Amino acid sequence: MIRTRFAPSPTGYLHIGGVRTALFSWAFARKNQGVFVLRIEDTDLERSTPESVKAIMDGMHWVGLDYDEGPFYQTQRFDRYKEVIQQLLASGHAYHCYCSKEELEAMRAEQEARGDKPRYDRRWRPEAGKTLPAIPEGVEPVVRFKTPLTGAVAWDDAVKGRIEISNEELDDLIIARPDGSPTYNFCVVVDDWDMQITHVIRGDDHVNNTPRQINILLALGAPLPVYGHLPMILNEDGQKMSKRRDAVSVVDYADKGILPEALLNYLARLGWGHGDDEFFTMEQFVEWFTLEAVSPSASRFNQEKFLWLNAQHIKAADNGRLAELIAPRLAAAKVETANGPAMNDVLALVKERVQDLNALALEVDYFYQKREPAAADVEKHLAGDAIARMGRFADKLAALEAWSAESIHELFKPFCAEEGIKMGQLGMPLRVLVCGTTQTPSVDAVLALIGKEEVLRRIRA
Ligand code: GLU
Repeated sequence: MIRTRFAPSPTGYLHIGGVRTALFSWAFARKNQGVFVLRIEDTDLERSTPESVKAIMDGMHWVGLDYDEGPFYQTQRFDRYKEVIQQLLASGHAYHCYCSKEELEAMRAEQEARGDKPRYDRRWRPEAGKTLPAIPEGVEPVVRFKTPLTGAVAWDDAVKGRIEISNEELDDLIIARPDGSPTYNFCVVVDDWDMQITHVIRGDDHVNNTPRQINILLALGAPLPVYGHLPMILNEDGQKMSKRRDAVSVVDYADKGILPEALLNYLARLGWGHGDDEFFTMEQFVEWFTLEAVSPSASRFNQEKFLWLNAQHIKAADNGRLAELIAPRLAAAKVETANGPAMNDVLALVKERVQDLNALALEVDYFYQKREPAAADVEKHLAGDAIARMGRFADKLAALEAWSAESIHELFKPFCAEEGIKMGQLGMPLRVLVCGTTQTPSVDAVLALIGKEEVLRRIRA
């Protein structure tokens, strides 16, 4: 049974890099009829906040990544971590270290002066035949893990291939602080073990933690999961995404009018591919997903491609759903839609013209209330005898018995001939008068939807 997890630290918003990690873990579980676990890594009490937990949950809900187990909170598992620390102490895989902060600082200064890499010198590590220092009074010890002195840790990373790190590179890391609280790498190990995680899929910023975690799992006699480290997402300039420069929080994308399925589709394409397929559903993604097809190198966020994909998903989206999504935007702009044309019909006409939901809301507004036209448009299209001509056209419209895009369209040619004008000299002033903008879909379809009475009212006003 495949079991994966997403294990965010609730120290801010839900980052899109996190969403991509969650997406790949989720897809791998779904593809294999496995289980996807959500775990909140909140042991950093100073940086973890309930608001951030909420932001993570809301973000997961928004993108629609459902989990089967959890959320588990590390802060609720302290007793278990302490139990495993005792187990490691009892089996000789961990030991107490009584070094004071000052001693550690002196150790570091000496090593640096010698040009050595600073590291704990293992003075409290018990070894056969070694005499340990006298236990100082009144010092609460930390617990350190006894990292093997020789050999190497190696694993076949499902994304990056074989990785091998010599144990000599690794310290005897602290697994419990003086107050007994467990440290980050240790909690992850116990959790992955207890939660029977078979595939740890996470960001490659954790590659350095993996050999430490594997050593602890080995000491515990626990089975090793498969590790797959996902490369970073860079911004368009090839830099690490930053909150200051880039949209990184899921909320930013919601605000920008991005559909969650478009964000997931794009994130799926970042660093993973299935032939030339760009636009796909999550059902297709799950069907096609393999860890082998994940690229081991970092990928760049391409804004243009991303918005193109969003446009494709808007086009494919159900109009009723789109109406619900733009309703708050229209309400905020005080656009009253109750007495206008059916929203579904308006959406069907305009949704192919936009790349995001904010633009969609703007595209919809003039069907319900005339926009104030730009002075330049008035000057350009309503100068000279254009106004009088529009009056004459209003009379033709008023005389129509059947009101439809076709019947309106049939008026155009004869009217232009009669007036000796080109179609643009009819269409543009008409748009400015009725819609308040020249940027509309085909004018006959727009007039048909707005309705006879309202069109005549706007022109005559
Ligand atoms: N809590 C870690 C993070 O947010 C992830 C740890 C893991 O996936 O092992 O980066």
